[in-house]
Amino acid sequence: MKNTLYDMSLIAGTMAISMWLGLDVDRVLLIAILSWLLYSIRMIRELIGILKDVSEKVVYLICLAMKNGKTCGSTAFRVRRTERGIVVECVDCKTKHEVNKDY
Ligand SMILES: [Zn+2]
Repeated sequence: MKNTLYDMSLIAGTMAISMWLGLDVDRVLLIAILSWLLYSIRMIRELIGILKDVSEKVVYLICLAMKNGKTCGSTAFRVRRTERGIVVECVDCKTKHEVNKDY
């Protein structure tokens, strides 16, 4: 989970610097969303690595979705195959991560 902590602090740092530079709220949000997307892609890639080894329908990971300012922290996910690819859904907060076939 070292990478995760590193990513989180990177996002927090980016946001702090953006605000310090006096960027308006929209820009800061945009930067936050972009960082989050990059972060999600990395998370999904890690997930796929695990998926390859696991044939069960439930994969155990830690959900990092933000909920009321805290990370969800749930460790159970449902994995479904759809025509658009693989969808993993956090059992607790129902956050869905869609995984394209390109990955
Ligand atoms: Zn969750």
